[in-house]
Amino acid sequence: MKHTDIRELFAHTDGYADTTVTVCGWVRTARDSKNVAFLEVNDGTSFRNLQIVVDKSRSSEETVREAMDAMAVGTSLTATGRLVTSERNGCELELETLTVLGKCPAEYPLQKKRHTQEFLRTIPHLRIRTRYFEAVFAVRDQLAQAVHAYFHSHGYRYVHAPIITGSDCEGAGEMFRVTTQPWNASYESEEAYYADDFFGKKAGLTVSAQLEGEMAAMGLGRIYTFGPTFRAEHSNTTRHLAEFWQIEPEVCFADIDDIIGIAEEFIKSIIKSVMENCPDELAFFDQWVEKGLIDKLNHVLNSDFGRVDYTDAIEILQKSGKDFKYPVSWGCDLQTEHERYLTDEYFAKPLFVVNYPKDIKAFYMKQNPDGKTVAATDLLVPGIGEIIGCSEREADLEKLTAAMTARNMPLDAYEQYLDTRRFGTVPHSGFGLGFDRMLMYVTGVGNIRDTLLFPRTVGTL
Ligand code: ATP
Ligand code: MN
Repeated sequence: MKHTDIRELFAHTDGYADTTVTVCGWVRTARDSKNVAFLEVNDGTSFRNLQIVVDKSRSSEETVREAMDAMAVGTSLTATGRLVTSERNGCELELETLTVLGKCPAEYPLQKKRHTQEFLRTIPHLRIRTRYFEAVFAVRDQLAQAVHAYFHSHGYRYVHAPIITGSDCEGAGEMFRVTTQPWNASYESEEAYYADDFFGKKAGLTVSAQLEGEMAAMGLGRIYTFGPTFRAEHSNTTRHLAEFWQIEPEVCFADIDDIIGIAEEFIKSIIKSVMENCPDELAFFDQWVEKGLIDKLNHVLNSDFGRVDYTDAIEILQKSGKDFKYPVSWGCDLQTEHERYLTDEYFAKPLFVVNYPKDIKAFYMKQNPDGKTVAATDLLVPGIGEIIGCSEREADLEKLTAAMTARNMPLDAYEQYLDTRRFGTVPHSGFGLGFDRMLMYVTGVGNIRDTLLFPRTVGTL
């Protein structure tokens, strides 16, 4: 259908002013009075609606009739008219002809201007038509483009790691199984059962692309992955999904300080890109979702992230005088309440907590000379907690296998991974950024279920 995007009309109003244009879209709101009617139309290309003005005295009877047919919220239409500049709206369309493409009866659930998020979660297929989700998805798209732009311009190769995998990586989370086998009780053992399955062995959905990423980096130097990650998380929180998107760069010849510098530069770069390209959406979030959001993001861009040793963080928490639900002592994993105190109250900015006890972290992390900690860091941000898990990797074959043995891991299942340490091992580091959590941070969206189209969580598909 020949028509002009509404985005284009707002972007180049001067060029289109006083010419005849055709637009397509859906009615978001409509107002009618004796002499004039207004239809606000959106086609998905622009966060701003285009106002169509129906001057009843100047329009043909047929045009008025069609326009009245289009007054129901959700109606799809195509409209032609003269584009005029408007002080209030930038530009408007003075209607000449209108055709209803699809009627929208009163059962359409999105009649009100504002609905609760809880209600909208029950209609994920329709909520995408609201301003809130239009804004979420504009920023989600921009954030994704910015991720690729950052890595591409810094010499990283984008690699695609497998989604179906035979190893559960690091035991990062519970793995979903992939199978084509019907249930069958006649097998003698688990092994026999899996041997008959599609791959001849047990398979599942990836919980992290890291191990494949490390192998790729050994050939390509600097790589990143950006793909779906699956964890059978039973934790029913506002920050956990069973299917989420993760960005995992892996950088050779980089130690923990290098990767911390990269992570900070990267986070700032993608925030900046959203601020430059999605000003209307951010203004919306600032007004309706998180007051002060834009100031917060500016502050993040213009200040250095904090950095604290895990050991010092424990001391800060112990001296905080707070009545935490989970007690704090050296060796404990930081709970959300602890993370939030550190970022929201004590440091009041994004914070790298560095050098965690080795026993609460994964086997592949570089062992520090103290024998107790590993060169690992989590980036915590106010309002959310952890968004990045990061470490320098243990490059020494013997130390690595010792850590695996101590964890009762089957070394033979990791032979290919261990080859990275056998053949030309190098210092290298990487991190995993939860993309959906990052989106929460830049928009102020408070529940991770509202960051993607069809969120998957325990019990909901
Ligand atoms: P958490 O402690 O918050 O459960 P984690 O330590 O298990 O996270 P990592 O294995 O370090 O997470 O994964 C890297 C990043 O992926 C996290 O920092 C987070 O941003 C994101 N992430 C992890 N699990 C989930 C999940 N279930 N849903 C959404 N994002 C997640
Ligand atoms: Mn982590």
